[in-house]
Amino acid sequence: MIKKCEHANCQKAGTCRCPKTRDLREYWYFCPEHAAEYNKNWNYYAGMSADEVEEDWERITFGSPLKDKAKANADEADYVKFLNDFISGRDTFDKMPKKTTLPGPVMNALKTFGLPITASWREVGVRYRALAKQHHPDRSGSATEFAKISSAYDTLKKYFGKK
Ligand SMILES: [Zn+2]
Repeated sequence: MIKKCEHANCQKAGTCRCPKTRDLREYWYFCPEHAAEYNKNWNYYAGMSADEVEEDWERITFGSPLKDKAKANADEADYVKFLNDFISGRDTFDKMPKKTTLPGPVMNALKTFGLPITASWREVGVRYRALAKQHHPDRSGSATEFAKISSAYDTLKKYFGKK
């Protein structure tokens, strides 16, 4: 049996199934026209907690959810320590091979990330997460800035030989 479109005052057949909630347990039945309209306006994040929204965003942005929050926080703490040590000159940079210059695009990318020439891939990753979060357009960041960060990240990813 075909239901009538559930959109108010619509007499067409409700041949399209649209989820009412993200858990996909309940559906509306709309005609194709109202289904298209509903899908366009459907709030994907409705009914999600802030943590779930965050995890979903991370999955979309980074490819997989940062499941291990403790590790993510440790990375964050590492970065803070790194910055503090860098600022106070306490870090062990002198143990690292002395680099005085890198290819132009890599230098620019490091500059975008506010990282020194001696930055490790791990530092790049941590910094990228922080910046991407801060500038993500969905979080009222600037699309231009976000694109700049993504492009810098791609450059560094290549430079560090990561895929
Ligand atoms: Zn309809």
